Amino acid sequence: GCGICPKKCPFGAINIINLPTNLESHVTHRYSANSFKLHRLPTPRPGQVLGLVGSNGIGKSTALKILSGKLKPNLGRYDNPPDWQDVIKYFRGSELQNYFTKILEDDLKAIVKPQYVDRIPRAIRSADKTVRTLIEAQASMDNLEEVLDVLELNHIMDRDVNLLSGGELQRFAIGTVCVQQADVYMFDEPSSYLDVKQRLSAAKIIRSLLRPDDYVICVEHDLSVLDYLSDFICVLYGKPAVYGVVTLPASVREGINIFLDGNIPTENLRFREESLTFRIAEAADEFMADRSRAFTYPKMEKTLDTFHLQIEEGDFTDSEIIVMMGENGTGKTTFCKMLAGALKPDGDQKVPGMKVSMKPQKITPKFEGTVRQLFFKKIKTAFLLPQFQTDVVKPLKLDEFIDQEVKTLSGGELQRVAIVLALGLPADIYLIDEPSAYLDSEQRIIAARVIKRFIMHSKKTAFIVEHDFIMATYLADRVIVFDGEPGIDARANTPESLLTGCNKFLKNLDVTFRRDPSNYRPRINKLNSQLDQEQKLGGNYRTSQ
Ligand code: ADP
Ligand code: ADP
Ligand code: MG
Ligand code: MG
Repeated sequence: GCGICPKKCPFGAINIINLPTNLESHVTHRYSANSFKLHRLPTPRPGQVLGLVGSNGIGKSTALKILSGKLKPNLGRYDNPPDWQDVIKYFRGSELQNYFTKILEDDLKAIVKPQYVDRIPRAIRSADKTVRTLIEAQASMDNLEEVLDVLELNHIMDRDVNLLSGGELQRFAIGTVCVQQADVYMFDEPSSYLDVKQRLSAAKIIRSLLRPDDYVICVEHDLSVLDYLSDFICVLYGKPAVYGVVTLPASVREGINIFLDGNIPTENLRFREESLTFRIAEAADEFMADRSRAFTYPKMEKTLDTFHLQIEEGDFTDSEIIVMMGENGTGKTTFCKMLAGALKPDGDQKVPGMKVSMKPQKITPKFEGTVRQLFFKKIKTAFLLPQFQTDVVKPLKLDEFIDQEVKTLSGGELQRVAIVLALGLPADIYLIDEPSAYLDSEQRIIAARVIKRFIMHSKKTAFIVEHDFIMATYLADRVIVFDGEPGIDARANTPESLLTGCNKFLKNLDVTFRRDPSNYRPRINKLNSQLDQEQKLGGNYRTSQ
């Protein structure tokens, strides 16, 4: 059997290659007739962080709702739902029986950091909506000070939640969960809107909630963060919006590798045709870039109100991708706007006049019409080129929603449309500000490949802002490290090699990375682990093995 269903499970382990279209076994929940079906459930373990990874629309949030006790699983019987006693009977003999019994009988308290933090301000009913009032009202443990400190909330304590930026709202939402006494803590996509440093801080504070008898569960698309956060992992696979299947628990390394390979060796099952790897050397070989054109920009300064940005002079070539790495508020978007000519430097310095195409960080769709109509209006020439279709449109899977109204698209769909629009305009420089926002881990890897291939084939230059470390290192030929005091006085260093740039950036964050030997994925070393200490001594914050 599958280890979860009753002993006489008719199908044994689910095998996707011959998955019956009308499979009724293993179904833990179905919303309604012909709607999404979730097969099996992740099994949490006390005292450990369970990480969940899988595409958008595959049932991760549904699984969290069920495990929090807020959604009673109907075992597929949406028209005649079983009661909780039947549900517990169904899970007899598995760890989930124990878990659900505790949820119901011991009245375990489960709290969830919701996926969509933008919706939080509207959902709050109280008259006083300042961060201080809201978070202090929830505090029932003695960690308030630490949480505020680690999540950098102290300077926004008296601000109304309606005025918070995405990243501030995310940290507020995580903080509100972390200060509560509970038995089950769930975090649905905690890293959205956060920079690398804030992602690591969030991971640290989430791990600090572990006690021998409580449960922590996280859904996460940034694989470095997922890796760092989790003690074990369940992968979700299937067909988005149609069905999702949860794998049995695996170790962190094994789980992430299952997800990347698209293959579950123990079940002899392949759920994705291709496997996703990060072989940077291979990418470089494939393109053998011949860089014939060089460009320079001068040392510049920019003052915006009370924010000051110092930009060291730099150069770049064609067929090159430069990734901008730095904390939120250090001027990455400002520098992009200056390169694009939308902001002028202080004094009379000039950026070289080049044709620039930009994917902005904030995407707000105003277009009335379908995605196809938008492409015909904005990028008709590129859109009709077979090469552009093969290199860009097809891999990003736009076919799935090309005839949908732009205004009805989800965040991940809009992001892919915005990437296509930016790459579809003829330009010398492509500025891509935070392409991984709203994308799931699979779409991130695909988007990174699409951008890399496009830049190499078209012999253009890209400047990319990216917080997902795996994506950033895959994309970068060179990096610009942004440092200084966020929001006050920051500096953009001159472009440098991936190795020295990463070392500078990671040293600022006090973390070290190694590479997974089987698929070259960068992995964060646990703080003060043997490797962490050795690498810091040697000054190798990022190793190439
Ligand atoms: P994920 O978190 O992995 O992106 P979700 O669990 O949110 O996925 O959703 C899985 C599928 O279930 C999606 O196709 C979604 O549209 C659908 N779904 C979610 N909630 C409901 C609901 N209340 N009624 C019907 N379908 C739903
Ligand atoms: P990043 O992209 O690295 O997060 P930004 O370039 O968006 O940083 O912003 C850097 C700093 O400049 C932030 O503190 C931001 O609030 C401030 N800032 C951005 N635009 C303006 C503006 N028009 N007026 C005043 N301050 C601004
Ligand atoms: Mg979700
Ligand atoms: Mg920005």
